[in-house]
Amino acid sequence: MADGPRPTSASRAKPGPLRVCALYPDLMNIYADRGNLLFLERRCRWRGIGFELTASGLGEQLDGERHELFYIGGGQDRDQRLCAEDLIANKRTGLHGAAERDAVVLGVCGGYQLLGHSYTLGEEEIEGVALLDVRTVRSDERRLIGNVAIEVSLGGDGDLAEPRVLAGFENHGGRTHLGAGQAPLGRVLKGHGNDGSSGTEGARRANTMGTYLHGPLLPKNAWFADWLIARALRIDPGELAPLDDRLEQATHASARRAAGL
Ligand code: GLN
Repeated sequence: MADGPRPTSASRAKPGPLRVCALYPDLMNIYADRGNLLFLERRCRWRGIGFELTASGLGEQLDGERHELFYIGGGQDRDQRLCAEDLIANKRTGLHGAAERDAVVLGVCGGYQLLGHSYTLGEEEIEGVALLDVRTVRSDERRLIGNVAIEVSLGGDGDLAEPRVLAGFENHGGRTHLGAGQAPLGRVLKGHGNDGSSGTEGARRANTMGTYLHGPLLPKNAWFADWLIARALRIDPGELAPLDDRLEQATHASARRAAGL
């Protein structure tokens, strides 16, 4: 990502600002989660769209009305425990309210697991906020690690009418199982996905999404970052000023190649 003067079109009306809330950025951040947030910020700034980043940590009540996009990143099991308790106590109501009014909620890896009903480790069951109808069970078998590529169909016009590829890296011990009516985020093309066998990856319900792809998800998939920005701002992705994305396209191509696609 160059620091560039990026917009190739400066004449459009500016939407925004995009107000992002990062949940537990000090605890849930093990795989380039800060980079994902920085990438959102840069893509807004290059277009002259205002961007505000707020952190919400342990013990802080979440106001679901104050942000358009909520982000929760990856974490170690022990940090997930701490955050899960706090999510239930201080943030569940706010997050549900945000999801109901169609704010974007994105959980990556450990964050994804906590958006579901539960994360079970042996005898212990960590309760999640149940925004997604998924349950995760920690497996004693090998971790699911490696480069991964999935096909996602987001719907919409133009470029997004066709299925698109998200490429990234996964590293999780948990196996995530989707409830009967729960749509995945995508279909595994290469890699393991939710549980290594179902062929599904992540989960999506309207603007609430979870995925195991990190490492880092958004810089490797600039089109997806833009889609999230547009959803959060309630505009069509085509309304975002185009940027000079040569570096981002090369990054995406390299992530796909790494996954063997
Ligand atoms: N601790 C969880 C697992 O291993 C999530 C890991 C992560 O966020 N990378 O399944």
